[in-house]
Amino acid sequence: MKTIKIKNSSKEFEIGKIVCVGKNYAEHALELGSVVPEKPVIFLKPLTAVIYSGDKITYPSFSNELHHEVELVLMIGKKVKDIDIEEAETAIFAYGVGLDMTLRDIQAKMKKEGHPWTIAKCFDTSAVLSEFVLKEDYNLSLEDEIFLSVNDKERQRDKLNKMILKPAEIVQYISSLMTLEKGDLVYTGTPKGVGIVNKGDVIKAGIEGIAELSAMIV
Ligand code: MG
Repeated sequence: MKTIKIKNSSKEFEIGKIVCVGKNYAEHALELGSVVPEKPVIFLKPLTAVIYSGDKITYPSFSNELHHEVELVLMIGKKVKDIDIEEAETAIFAYGVGLDMTLRDIQAKMKKEGHPWTIAKCFDTSAVLSEFVLKEDYNLSLEDEIFLSVNDKERQRDKLNKMILKPAEIVQYISSLMTLEKGDLVYTGTPKGVGIVNKGDVIKAGIEGIAELSAMIV
């Protein structure tokens, strides 16, 4: 069992499934040589991928191009399906920061061959999570900045308002495809500036006002 820990609280919530959105920032889609898709790209990560701030990211032996992606992560607070935008807003229970670690060489090969991204996105330690803050305790204005550095050199920094689909719109869209339940997590996509990390590198990332995390590559 993996849990979400709430900042400054003894509360913990069991994580359900992890649903991720790809290409939700236009400048990131462009830097990958992609176009912004008409509908968001959706993929999953398994629970076995989850680690926490302070843990180590294990560089898989079957890749030569490990990339960082920092993302706002939503925790869902109730079971929902086919909901409208107002209910989607109320289904969001907490906010956190996550790394969607990605094997870019494998992903490029999978895209070319028309295969799922599973191998590129689901390896152990590929989902790093911060502590979360409850939505009732934090007003997400989307003016908040999301940022990531590698060895203290900044790589990613953008306002959350650059997201193409906003949090409630993402939850509404996913709920039209599959049931979301309490404890499910939603990775909302990464801004521009993704790049390579190597063994020994230290990633620090966060969202102003929400949380920060750090992880070393080994
Ligand atoms: Mg991502």
